Amino acid sequence: MTSIAQAVSCVDGYDPDALRVDKAREAIRACLEPVTASETVPVRESLGRVLAQDIVPAINVPGHDNSAMDGWAVRGSDLNSSKETSLSEIGKALAGKPFHGKVSAGQCVRVMTGAVMPEGADTVVVQEACKASGDRITIPAGQKAGQNVRAAGEDLKAGVAVLKAGQQVRAAELGLIASLGIGELSVRRRLRVAFFSTGDELASIGTALKEGEVYDSNRYTLHGMLARLGVEIIDMGVVRDDPAALEKAFREASRHDAIVTTGGVSVGEADFIRQMMAKLGEVLFWKIAMRPGRPMAFGRIGQSFLFGLPGNPVAVMVTFYQFVREALLFLSGVSPSEVPLLTATSAQSIRKVPGRTEYQRGVLYKEGNAWKVRTTGQQGSGVLRSMSEANCFIVLEHERGKVEAGEPVNVQLMDTLA
Ligand code: AMP
Ligand code: MG
Repeated sequence: MTSIAQAVSCVDGYDPDALRVDKAREAIRACLEPVTASETVPVRESLGRVLAQDIVPAINVPGHDNSAMDGWAVRGSDLNSSKETSLSEIGKALAGKPFHGKVSAGQCVRVMTGAVMPEGADTVVVQEACKASGDRITIPAGQKAGQNVRAAGEDLKAGVAVLKAGQQVRAAELGLIASLGIGELSVRRRLRVAFFSTGDELASIGTALKEGEVYDSNRYTLHGMLARLGVEIIDMGVVRDDPAALEKAFREASRHDAIVTTGGVSVGEADFIRQMMAKLGEVLFWKIAMRPGRPMAFGRIGQSFLFGLPGNPVAVMVTFYQFVREALLFLSGVSPSEVPLLTATSAQSIRKVPGRTEYQRGVLYKEGNAWKVRTTGQQGSGVLRSMSEANCFIVLEHERGKVEAGEPVNVQLMDTLA
């Protein structure tokens, strides 16, 4: 196992006291090793989980050529391109009820959507186009041979891997796996993530606030963000700013794959935590060139990766979304794709100085045909309401200065961060 210090030293331009967002991401990624253990689960339970093996179809889907429409199955070679063709209906085929005879020249078979194509037929003419009189069916000119037929294996081909290990199972994959008749499958074991809040000022809900106390909201935003990642959550409550209590909590938390804490990493508070960490594991304290969310700790205690987030409620969410989310996905065995950025027109000027990346809380909206974005107003890192009002982050890049109204800005939709 390489040390954290060794791994991050490979990151070009690494500077713990003025760490660019992209460098912090790179440094974290350089240290992580995904879980490898897997378990077998029934199809439905694989929702949100990470595939531990490729899915290779044992059958073609669909299994047979079949009709894509209600109509008549005919032989393409019987049809006349410039005039009507009259055929004789010799039977019918429904979905799940095939026609067992053979279609010879001059013949056709009544078919419904999903019916297996009768032997000899290769083309379906939709019922609306045809005239039926007893068993005489008149097909208009201008049909194309092969039309309205779904080919066997056009969805999934036997022997050709359709899903890869490392993919997350969504609704579409559940259906796709079921379409292969697979009842259970192998997925990576769930990542176990322990978290706790630190702070002498924190009260838990259900107790009355004493003077100077605030309710612990971070554990609830964290619960929400972690739950949406599909990890197993171990909520360890509030831990006081007390060395013995913190040490005990960190030791206990380190039995899990990852630890997320909030508070206690800002300059005034970090010192005794720093000393303790030096005893327990290998933890780096960073000042990240970003707003909100400047201080952050990252490292390892035993086998567990630690993400020490700042205490301010907005900073918790921003640092979670920009660093922890991707890291936990990676640890879970996913190869996370980059969060998409969209471009919108800023409806207002926005103050910004070069030298840090800002994640302003924004509202993306449509005006006429244009997508515009405005900030939610007050951007203090204690104003959690700004996260609730926002539907996106306005991402103001490291080098960027003031934004003028009407300029394009990048936005990251909150929904893509789930
Ligand atoms: P800290 O990073 O510990 O200095 O905390 C920074 C600010 O965030 C302080 O105003 C804290 O009261 C506030 N804060 C810290 N933890 C929490 C929490 N769990 N819930 C709500 N506010 C918090
Ligand atoms: Mg604190």
